[in-house]
Amino acid sequence: MLDLVFELIAPLRCAGCDALGAVLCEACWGLVERTDPASACPRCGEPLNAGRRHACPCRNAAFTAVRCFGRLEPPLSSAVALHKDPGERRYGPVLGAFVATACADWAGWPDAVVAVPPTRSARLRRGYDHTRPLARVVAARLGAPEATLLLAHERSDQRGLGRQQRQMNTRGAFSVAPGARVPARVLLVDDVMTTGATLDAAAAALLDAGAREVRAAVVARA
Ligand SMILES: [Zn+2]
Ligand SMILES: [Zn+2]
Repeated sequence: MLDLVFELIAPLRCAGCDALGAVLCEACWGLVERTDPASACPRCGEPLNAGRRHACPCRNAAFTAVRCFGRLEPPLSSAVALHKDPGERRYGPVLGAFVATACADWAGWPDAVVAVPPTRSARLRRGYDHTRPLARVVAARLGAPEATLLLAHERSDQRGLGRQQRQMNTRGAFSVAPGARVPARVLLVDDVMTTGATLDAAAAALLDAGAREVRAAVVARA
């Protein structure tokens, strides 16, 4: 019922061009810069340019692999931003399907799919935990349970911070819920990866609590 009211006051529009009826219309869908895992760094997910050296920024990260559906450019970036609007729940299933597509060949690998939780203040601002709908879709598609294992502690806003500052800011940003049983293979799901510092901190918390390997998959890479 609430969803119906929401649809009436704010009908679904394309994140790219505002056309009515879909999260992304066919024309805008064609503009999404998708990342081909076959030509991306397996560790950090960055698209590799032939002939150019790649100094992987995530070579020491706590996670072993990242998959990104695409680049954080319009119209994908607009869809990611709209998904964070308070009360907006129509983008989650679609963005979750994008993440699942990026890591479809990992089906059967994870013992659990875990959303990277937003800070408490971010959750309060948006009214809900915006990464969980993505994790639920990925879990269903990959045939693994979705688990809420991570607690997010308050950290200052990451925007405008450089790589090292982000690393400092995210150190100790997550812990595992007391008493939680952490399975061996965990797939982390988030909406955006910038430097990988947030994913690194989340993966480190899971490894500390008993996970053996952590991989990550996101909608878009900045
Ligand atoms: Zn469009
Ligand atoms: Zn790399």
